[in-house]
Amino acid sequence: MKVIDLRSDTVTKPTEEMRKAIYDAAVGDDVYGDDPTVNELEEFAAKLVGKEAALFVPSGTFGNQVCIMTHTNRGDEVILESHAHIKRYEVGAAAVLSGVILHTIDGINGQMNINDIKDAVRGDNIHYPSTRLICLENANGSGKVFDLDYMEQVYELAKKFDLKVHLDGARLFNAATFLNVESKEICKYVDSVTFCLSKGLAAPIGSIVAGSKEFIAKARKNRKLMGGGMRQVGIIAAAGLVSLKKMIHRLNEDHDNARLFADLISGLNGVEVFYERLNINMVFCNIDSKIINEDYFVNELKKQNILVNGYRSGEEVRFAFHNDISREDVYTAFEAIKEIFKSVK
Ligand SMILES: *Cc1c(COP(=O)(O)O)cnc(C)c1O
Repeated sequence: MKVIDLRSDTVTKPTEEMRKAIYDAAVGDDVYGDDPTVNELEEFAAKLVGKEAALFVPSGTFGNQVCIMTHTNRGDEVILESHAHIKRYEVGAAAVLSGVILHTIDGINGQMNINDIKDAVRGDNIHYPSTRLICLENANGSGKVFDLDYMEQVYELAKKFDLKVHLDGARLFNAATFLNVESKEICKYVDSVTFCLSKGLAAPIGSIVAGSKEFIAKARKNRKLMGGGMRQVGIIAAAGLVSLKKMIHRLNEDHDNARLFADLISGLNGVEVFYERLNINMVFCNIDSKIINEDYFVNELKKQNILVNGYRSGEEVRFAFHNDISREDVYTAFEAIKEIFKSVK
């Protein structure tokens, strides 16, 4: 029986086309710059997001951290929103690897107020660390997508204070799909960007970092320092090329499925969908624990091969839609959830 895995878009399996591309990939030693498939992927990716150069890295976390390391010096300050992946879910890497201070700002749905950013920029005082970098996350982990106008405002502010802007664009192409623009329109307003091939784009492994030629040359050296110099890595880059050539054009299907699912479950008594941040492939909602016990909900679904992340009372639940979830699966998952709600009445 098919497993309907709604835990994340990272669970996507490589497509048939990717497996064939992996089998056929021309390879070489990428530390020598000899892997033609990696070179092709990096060139293709750079062009796609409108940057001079790109670098293939093992993960999104690696990409963000190599960018922070490349932009900053030890003791520098990085401004970012309190819920940012870089701050919450990267194991403190910015402190360990780059020795920087994270200056967090509370935003709304991950979006920092422009004046708050401005106030966070350090002045010229012997006691202060130097503000060096602003990190944005778009699409945001909250499900929200920030518009181009906001991106531009942050970028202009950064340039005024001679700061760099890094975009954690793990789901960059979901953001572009929502805004109905090319990804390079978003990346115009940042100095560096990381995006994941291994989430909604279904590649098994890998992320891309893009920026200026000079930045990427430095980042390449830092990637080596971090242990990310890989050899015949065209084997996995081949799948990444399929991601960028084919998979970014189908993300709207995932967004449509998320919206359909949201509309279906929002009709259930005790479910509150957060529509204001239903922008991409993820539905966030609250399920009233007085009506449904969390563990019961997760376990009952699991019995039917429907996987959702565990959550605690009062916490939100996230359902992620992706390449391995069909429209039919959306209805199947909804019917199962509906039955669980009925069974506790
Ligand atoms: C997934 C994710 C990352 C990290 O990617 P990994 O490949 O899991 O290391 C970074 N930022 C955001 C917003 C993400 O969703």
